[in-house]
Amino acid sequence: MTKQNQMHFETRAIHAGAEPDPVTGACGTPIHQAAAFQFKSTQHAANAFALKERAFIYSRLTNPTVSALEEKMTALEGGVGATCTPSGLAANLLIFSALMSPNADFVSSCKIYGGSVGQFRDTFSRAFGWQCHFVDPTDPENFERAITENTRLLFAESISNPEGVVSDLEALGKIAEKNHIPLIIDNTVATPYLCRPFEYGASLVTHSTTKYLSGHGNAMGGVVIDGGTFDWMKHADKYPALGKEVASYNNMIFGESFEDCPVAMHNHAVGLRDLGLNQQPMNAYLTMLGIQTLPLRMEQHCKNALKVAEYLKNHPAVSWVNYTGLKDSPSYALARKYMKNGYSSSLFSFGLKAGYDAAVRLVENVRLFTHLANLGDTRSLIIHPASTTHAQLSEQQKINAGALPDAIRVSIGLENIEDLIADLDQALETAQTLAA
Ligand SMILES: *Cc1c(COP(=O)(O)O)cnc(C)c1O
Repeated sequence: MTKQNQMHFETRAIHAGAEPDPVTGACGTPIHQAAAFQFKSTQHAANAFALKERAFIYSRLTNPTVSALEEKMTALEGGVGATCTPSGLAANLLIFSALMSPNADFVSSCKIYGGSVGQFRDTFSRAFGWQCHFVDPTDPENFERAITENTRLLFAESISNPEGVVSDLEALGKIAEKNHIPLIIDNTVATPYLCRPFEYGASLVTHSTTKYLSGHGNAMGGVVIDGGTFDWMKHADKYPALGKEVASYNNMIFGESFEDCPVAMHNHAVGLRDLGLNQQPMNAYLTMLGIQTLPLRMEQHCKNALKVAEYLKNHPAVSWVNYTGLKDSPSYALARKYMKNGYSSSLFSFGLKAGYDAAVRLVENVRLFTHLANLGDTRSLIIHPASTTHAQLSEQQKINAGALPDAIRVSIGLENIEDLIADLDQALETAQTLAA
């Protein structure tokens, strides 16, 4: 670890994992567009394959550009190791494949990204037999009540997408510890700038780096970060991938041989090797470029979002605004406790008095906001979930997911606040007429 890794967050965002290239002196991390790496000798090759020596072999397992991003993410979250994946959902698959087994179950917050809900509820159970119990996270005791003797992990988002529900991380950490199971926190919406879940008892952190981390809407990616605190050897029967012999590596036990970062080692040597979930170097490069300005961007995202939310709250055509940064939000107190400066990121929803048609009309009438399904871009984004991202859900599922007929979801970007409000002002005029 370089000395910059112990410095302040802004310094780590720029310098961690970003030593100048030792061969050329190149100051920006090079894009190592290579499938495989030459060995120095037959002994070097044998040691590399037996994991006796850390070396680059083949980019499905490790790649120097992707490794640099892994080091940066480890430093930003305060973990011991990380593994990058091609998307956020691939990060879920990678870590679940290490911890779950057929007919084991896990407990997840029901207030999570819709794509994760589908993955957990449908594909994980059908293809792998991993059963998910969804619980309402606003009472942490719901997690405890759903735990069975087959439960292998707890899962929640620090700030939920899209509703902004903040998890009571300390309470969840205690429940996980008491029940000897790891707590996984998806920290995508908060980013490590606002919240570092390891400080509150999470064992593992995941991200979709596609969002605020890469930050410019131009690179897909995911990452799993190992907090290094969970004792896999003590619970080897429940977590054989980490606590028992692995036949394909000379019966090595990852929890013993790599005490410092067993999960990250296993995720590379077994997970990426067997599932093929490696991130591309170009995406790692773009993500590192984005992360350098993460602190500045998050400050502005949060400040702009609060101003837009306050403006909407006072607008006569708007019936409700659900932004965690507003004092009347149910998660306001938890955001003050767990998020830097009580910030709440820049994703939120609001409703129009004139309902579904007015909501669709608003999306048609904005000029500066971009109409697309993403978040955490420099650009301000807008979408009507009920007719798009959540259209395939039943009416009840839509309500559970916060995709009400009149709801509009926005991700507030970094444009000038006056321009954003002027755009909403002109677009809301139609909605106002419809409401009258
Ligand atoms: C987008 C998102 C994901 C999925 O990430 P992809 O990169 O789209 O696969 C997971 N969790 C949260 C909170 C997200 O917003």
